[in-house]
Amino acid sequence: MARINLEHIRHAYGEKPKSEADYALKEVHHEWNDSGAYALLGPSGCGKTTLLNIISGLLQPSEGRILFDGRDVTNLSTQQRNIAQVFQFPVIYDTMTVYDNLAFPLRNRGVPETEVDRRVREIIDMIGLGSWAKKKARGLTADQKQKISLGRGLVRSDVNAILFDEPLTVIDPHMKWVLRSQLKKLHRQFGFTMVYVTHDQTEALTFADKVVVMYDGQIVQIGTPAELFERPSHTFVGYFIGSPGMNVLPATVDGSNVTIGTDTIALDFRPKLDANATTELGIRPEFVRLGREGMHVRVNKVEDIGRQKIVRAEFAGNPIAIVIPEDGEIPADPRVTFDPSAINIYANSWRVGREA
Ligand code: ADP
Ligand code: MG
Repeated sequence: MARINLEHIRHAYGEKPKSEADYALKEVHHEWNDSGAYALLGPSGCGKTTLLNIISGLLQPSEGRILFDGRDVTNLSTQQRNIAQVFQFPVIYDTMTVYDNLAFPLRNRGVPETEVDRRVREIIDMIGLGSWAKKKARGLTADQKQKISLGRGLVRSDVNAILFDEPLTVIDPHMKWVLRSQLKKLHRQFGFTMVYVTHDQTEALTFADKVVVMYDGQIVQIGTPAELFERPSHTFVGYFIGSPGMNVLPATVDGSNVTIGTDTIALDFRPKLDANATTELGIRPEFVRLGREGMHVRVNKVEDIGRQKIVRAEFAGNPIAIVIPEDGEIPADPRVTFDPSAINIYANSWRVGREA
């Protein structure tokens, strides 16, 4: 229930960072909308937990400010920021019962006992531990403990934001799906601002209104799932989103023509390029057409993945993936064409805009 502004956040864990490489966060500058559901997606080590801990106040950034609804909270604690955080591993009180674990954050804030009871019962059923209420947390399994952790994050409905750091990693796939839809429901009901960290693209894409892709200490793109799929702003986003990822081929651009090896393709736009930029063409495997016409490819391997096949081929000396239908044939002299509207051009790994 707060708009969060991250202003020029940088963070290095060491005392005296010597170079950019020593920064776990290089430059994060962004506004998270009030009541938004954000998924923070990126490979292990890219800085997701670091950013989350900076938002919650567990970690002070080396540089930059954090604002909640325009108020500077950079020097406030997690409690003062009124944030709930659920970690990757359970954080619970082993000697307390399941019920008391869930009640703790509410009692701690002086919430009246009748209200505590109402909220705890609602959440305990949601996480499927209703019949375990009186059990001591100590004896529970790892995934039950993690559900308690999740419940403790959700039990307060008055928070500015709830931050989740890969909370479902240890939960089994079916329960994951159940909890995820429950989370969505609570989000709609209470309208808290939600930031959900995951390295799993399916989880991110099904969960969030906006997916924030992180790579190497930076946010490289914020968008809807369709935007990330169709117009990846960085070649990394192209590789990371989608399976198989986007094909990225070294290319030279001249006006609105792009050349790969000895083949030249006419683009439907004229990329805006700086001289000497290293240029690449990005095309998703779904938008490469395999047939008897077009540019020569050498097919190396066909992988049957059920309803589709992935053709692994070589095109102008580069590996290329092509998605074809289940009943698709490989011609004797295989050729490819690219759907022009699905081509993206990259300069020094960043997507190049279109000239008006
Ligand atoms: P993610 O959550 O995306 O896996 P992290 O935010 O945990 O990434 O880590 C980002 C970078 O910061 C990594 O290079 C990691 O090794 C480093 N790092 C994380 N925590 C610490 C720490 N407490 N001390 C030193 N380096 C750390
Ligand atoms: Mg992490």
